[in-house]
Amino acid sequence: QAETEARERAKPAQTRDGHRIAIGANVNNPEQVPMALDQGAEGVGLMRTEFLFLERGDTPSEDDQYGTYSGMLTALAGRPLIVRTLDIGGDKQAAHLHLPKEENPFLGVRGARLLLRRPDLMEPQLRALYRAAKDHVPADAPRGKDAPLSIMMPMITSVPEVLRLREICEGIRDEIGAPEVPLGIMIEVPAAAIQADVLARHCDFFSIGTNDLTQYTLAIDRQNTDLAPEADSLHPAVLRLIRLTCEGAARHGRFVGVCGGIAGDPFGASLLAGLGVHELSMTPRDLPGVKARLRACDMAELKALAMDACAQEDAAAVRALDPAADSAAD
Ligand code: PEP
Ligand code: MG
Repeated sequence: QAETEARERAKPAQTRDGHRIAIGANVNNPEQVPMALDQGAEGVGLMRTEFLFLERGDTPSEDDQYGTYSGMLTALAGRPLIVRTLDIGGDKQAAHLHLPKEENPFLGVRGARLLLRRPDLMEPQLRALYRAAKDHVPADAPRGKDAPLSIMMPMITSVPEVLRLREICEGIRDEIGAPEVPLGIMIEVPAAAIQADVLARHCDFFSIGTNDLTQYTLAIDRQNTDLAPEADSLHPAVLRLIRLTCEGAARHGRFVGVCGGIAGDPFGASLLAGLGVHELSMTPRDLPGVKARLRACDMAELKALAMDACAQEDAAAVRALDPAADSAAD
């Protein structure tokens, strides 16, 4: 029985009509990698590096970070790893950084905005990443979606931010003599989704952060428990922004992942696949359910379902389209 389940978890998320969705895990340290692989992950679609800073209560040195990123690459043995640079601010506050207090931290100096203002935080992190690439990524490693290491920037809202970040990355890569590392951006602000076709010119891939995209689209603080039932990532307004993101990426041949919570919901995952998302990354425990659901679907049907979902009036109407909704409610 256990063996049959393990075999099921290891199967790819390939729809009945042969479309394969890449499946990653959201994992923050090398110790969690074996468990994620056992649950059926094909790689790590989101490593949230702020946890390196938050868990220990001080700033990890470049060497400490190099050790952690090398550990991740070794544990993954060539499978894809997407490392997100520091996303401090909003719900992730680090007292030891002594950042100025803000009235609205979610609308303040967060993610990429902080990175650009604090080279003392960004540069050691990028050096650690490119050193890890130099030591662990072979010259003939695959590129694109299958690259063993990719770097991703959080909370992007504008083209100049991306251009500046790319320039800084390239400068450090040159200095270290590291191989090329794909550079992607998080799409988690409506401005980025709306301008996805423009942003796609300047980066290698997108990963949609549906937790923040939902918060910023619906104007609902993601931590407000009173409003939690309304903060549904399957709201048609959020789905339309995801569709726009996929269309913008497709124009430039970029791939799109989703690493927010809705990627781990079987119905959400099937809608995302129908909207044109290529990769889903989630908490390891959600992996088996999502893979099983996608394997039971036809991409042609998922595309129609996704278009139907975008045309609904509200999130409840979208959820009612779930063929499994009736049995789930029993
Ligand atoms: C998101 O916003 O969906 C996301 C994946 O990033 P985080 O939850 O770390 O803000
Ligand atoms: Mg986010």
